[in-house]
Amino acid sequence: MSPAPTQEEFIFRSKLPNIPIPTHLPLHSYCFENLSKFHHRPCLINGDTGETLTYAEVHLTVRKIVAGLNSLNIHQGDVIMLVLRNCPQFALSFLGAAHRGAVITTANPFYTTTELAKQATATKSKLIITQSAYVEKIKHFAKTNDIKIVSIDSSTEEEDVLHFSVLTQANENDAPDVKINPDDVVALPFSSGTSGLPKGVMLTHKNLVTTIAQLVDGENPHQYTNCEDVLLCVLPMFHIYALNSILLCGIRSGAAVLIVQKFEITTLLELIQKYRVTVASFVPPIVLALVKSGESNRYDLSSIRAMITGAAPMGMELEEAVKARLPKTTLGQGYGMTEAGPLSISLAFAKEPLGTKPGACGTVVRNAEMKIVDTDTGASLPKNKPGEICIRGTKVMKGYLNDPEATKRTIDQEGWLHTGDIGFIDDDDELFIVDRLKELIKYKGYQVAPAELEAMLISHPNISDAAVVPMKDEAAGEVPVAFVVRSNGSKITEDEIKQYISQQVVFYKRINKVFFTDTIPKAASGKILRKELTARLSEGLVST
Ligand code: AMP
Repeated sequence: MSPAPTQEEFIFRSKLPNIPIPTHLPLHSYCFENLSKFHHRPCLINGDTGETLTYAEVHLTVRKIVAGLNSLNIHQGDVIMLVLRNCPQFALSFLGAAHRGAVITTANPFYTTTELAKQATATKSKLIITQSAYVEKIKHFAKTNDIKIVSIDSSTEEEDVLHFSVLTQANENDAPDVKINPDDVVALPFSSGTSGLPKGVMLTHKNLVTTIAQLVDGENPHQYTNCEDVLLCVLPMFHIYALNSILLCGIRSGAAVLIVQKFEITTLLELIQKYRVTVASFVPPIVLALVKSGESNRYDLSSIRAMITGAAPMGMELEEAVKARLPKTTLGQGYGMTEAGPLSISLAFAKEPLGTKPGACGTVVRNAEMKIVDTDTGASLPKNKPGEICIRGTKVMKGYLNDPEATKRTIDQEGWLHTGDIGFIDDDDELFIVDRLKELIKYKGYQVAPAELEAMLISHPNISDAAVVPMKDEAAGEVPVAFVVRSNGSKITEDEIKQYISQQVVFYKRINKVFFTDTIPKAASGKILRKELTARLSEGLVST
């Protein structure tokens, strides 16, 4: 809803002046703009093997990949899907595809075949770059949809699977010239946004250049990173937070990016100590594990000058525990959303230990605007009044893929992106998140869309209606639980329902508990009254 025209508008901006952002540059040109300064410095470090690629090597390989993609008939605007764990090839493929003018959709490699096939067909992917562990679950639907497969580690003789060397051993001089428009889509991650099923989020070259520049360009006392840094990348690169705020920000700044495939506490601590990591980006469950693990005291973590968490709320006790363990480290929360750039709000990276206030997410980044709106009237609110957080600027996505209706519901006519999060701005311009208006469930920072699970549940013949809501969980933050109305005469059990869902979804979307009920509370419009169900959970008015 838009406010009445005469109402005063309360718009929040950074106290730092805006900076010129070269939004005319394609993403890869922007990332490598300062290449000559860093040529021989380490760019990508493979934490699992120790192998290091310099900036010069990365740049050359990226150009080879452009030529290789061309030889595979991948043209400008074609969609390439990455189904990879964290690895240097992820970074190289992403940058090469961006340079080719292609669109990259990133998927969680742990997705089931059903989930991967859905994303590949929704995006009309032409090529999937993956690794041998996942080829089996991709092969079949790739064949039916005429999608080529390139694997970074499969044997070169495997049928229907090309080896990564077809890309990396191409002749860079064969790379075609591509004219990229700043409004061309470059990344297509999936997010359910404020409601409904997961949707392709169309992020353009201009969007990503903006979100990187906001964090690392220009004079900024809260500078996130520079070429002296070693950035830890253990968060999944398929999520925009790691992809943009760690990998691409790191490359733009000339930092070394330490890529770690999987989170395992001892290995992580060893790597932090070995490579003298300076900036560690985490999600709250990893911070929790780090603080709780008795092992962390056996390692020297003093190199970490900044630790940032995001993607989900971090409790104040956890913040206190980190400060006690790492008193010299600047600790801060960031807040963002795939649709609005991964870090819209952040004050975490100051050289001095500024950090964010306990419980706060920092202030809005430069070259962006934020307002807090009353969810009933649409009027913007002054400081200290909670409402829906809205963000505007060239960081905001172009829209949802093939879904103009959902785009219109999310970005209003004045260009404000409605996040579906409830927060307020305090007297120091810092943002506090207090609630979530939208349906989304966050399991360790991973998205779970209730609508996706509800569609699966009600397609079961023994279920007549269902609703999925978040339940608080100490380790994961939230887990999905289902309220289920059995069909007439059905005796379907909790275990049968859980198993039925587990077969179709990645581990974190599995239903944690099933509560049988006679009806699902709904508004006259048919909308599920989710708050009523979550209230039942917190009041303990549920039985399985
Ligand atoms: P995603 O698009 O997967 O990054 O999810 C974005 C959503 O994660 C936001 O809209 C919030 O609901 C939640 N989120 C991100 N950062 C924070 C934070 N620091 N505190 C609380 N919730 C957060």
